[in-house]
Amino acid sequence: MALVDIIGDRWVEQGEDIGERYRVDIMEKYSASPGWLAKPESTEQVSAIMRAASEAGVPVTVIGGQSGTSGGAIPSDGGLALSLERMNQIVEIDTLSMMMTVEAGCILQLAQEAAEGEGAFLPVDLGARGSAMIGGVIGTNAGGNRVVRWGMMRDMVIGLEAVLADGTVVSSLTKMLKDNAGYHWKHLLVGSEGTLGIVTKAVLRLRPLPTTKQTALVAAKSFEDMITVMRRLERDLSGQLSSFELMWDDFYAAMTDAQLDQRPCPMPTGYGIYALVEAMGGSEALDTELFTGALTTLMEEGLVDDAVIAQSARERDALWAVREDLLPGIGKLKPFVSYDVSMAIADMPSFVTAARDALEKAYPGVTMLFYGHAGDGNLHATVSIGKLDETIKNGFNDAVFGAVRDVGGSISAEPGIGMDRMPWLSWTRSESELALMRSIKQAIDPAGILNPGKLLPAA
Ligand SMILES: Cc1cc2nc3c(=O)[nH]c(=O)nc-3n(C[C@H](O)[C@H](O)[C@H](O)COP(=O)(O)OP(=O)(O)OC[C@H]3O[C@@H](n4cnc5c(N)ncnc54)[C@H](O)[C@@H]3O)c2cc1C
Repeated sequence: MALVDIIGDRWVEQGEDIGERYRVDIMEKYSASPGWLAKPESTEQVSAIMRAASEAGVPVTVIGGQSGTSGGAIPSDGGLALSLERMNQIVEIDTLSMMMTVEAGCILQLAQEAAEGEGAFLPVDLGARGSAMIGGVIGTNAGGNRVVRWGMMRDMVIGLEAVLADGTVVSSLTKMLKDNAGYHWKHLLVGSEGTLGIVTKAVLRLRPLPTTKQTALVAAKSFEDMITVMRRLERDLSGQLSSFELMWDDFYAAMTDAQLDQRPCPMPTGYGIYALVEAMGGSEALDTELFTGALTTLMEEGLVDDAVIAQSARERDALWAVREDLLPGIGKLKPFVSYDVSMAIADMPSFVTAARDALEKAYPGVTMLFYGHAGDGNLHATVSIGKLDETIKNGFNDAVFGAVRDVGGSISAEPGIGMDRMPWLSWTRSESELALMRSIKQAIDPAGILNPGKLLPAA
């Protein structure tokens, strides 16, 4: 392929010279030997590369920050790995329209900070903010901690520019919120894991930057009480509730115990269920009172059993650490398998019970920790029996995905299907849905060169 002619030899690597970051996924489950790595600097270069790849029939995998955990950004052996890391510019921040135009290789956290520098707010936020790129966040329709209020990446993508398999550039970098002129192809690309097109730029919806933040850890007797607490806070905080992170009691106990070297346990273990609650607003004078008042009422009514409200940024970070500083607690369970599945919020307890029963039956003594983003029905599970091979992993998958299927949920709420979950896609997608997905793929990428072997299993 004429890659060097298109982008210059400095930005092309071949074979063994290609760095590990582009060949091995962060879970170190998958690795590959791509033929080339290319780092273009413009949409025109991406287009020329795709024309050349298409003519040569070379498979192309676009790589973002490699923070996805399903092997979606692992290139094909002998294929082309495409990194947009040089396409990392903030093109424009328009604070009147409340939109930012950004290149796909920009790191999420840098986009957030650029928006904040202009008094605006890009609400999508996840633990991998320091490495995930805008293109990867769009490619996986990432959600994160604030979906309960502002929605997921799909809700923030207003305009999009992408390069198709044959090099065609499709561009609709619009800032219009409402546009009913025909099909919205952007929605096909959001969450398509690099299998339908390469996102090169996006227009993202911003919000006015909140100036206050209230954070609390709360405990309740039961899941039902805790969801009632969430609904009440959605109403009683006048729309300010921005995070509601659920933690089952065993997850809370395991995390706080493992973190004791670094910080004291903020609240006793032994309650039924815990949640990390955050509200963001704009009035120093009113917001603290509103938040404290709402939690006090919920305690008086017996819905909340205990609450710790952060009094400083340091205390807020310590509360968030219970949920986000996973390494000390979950690291101890290595080797483990992590799940991020979704379902109707009301179905979460029956899913957890069914998954626990199925796992315990197949693997007596298994450790299972459940936690997740309540707002979008997105639940994490970490499962460990102290050893791991393909048979055990498949057994875990059958138990967890079987319980998901039984409540009509989805086997992936986070990093997509990639390679990891492809064999189970049909468990929560019907034959007719899979056939429609295949028709779309065939229409847009007839030669199948965009990220082959990911997402869609062969018919
Ligand atoms: C600590 C941690 C916390 C996380 N928390 C969350 C969370 O709360 N919510 C959540 O949803 N996810 C979460 N994730 C998963 C992951 O961070 C997201 O899926 C993220 O959006 C992936 O971005 P990335 O740039 O790393 O993409 P990569 O992992 O590099 O790629 C992911 C997929 O997107 C495709 N892709 C990459 N760039 C483009 C592009 N320009 N155009 C088209 N397709 C592209 C790739 O081909 C691949 O299929 C978390 C991961 C970690 C490690």
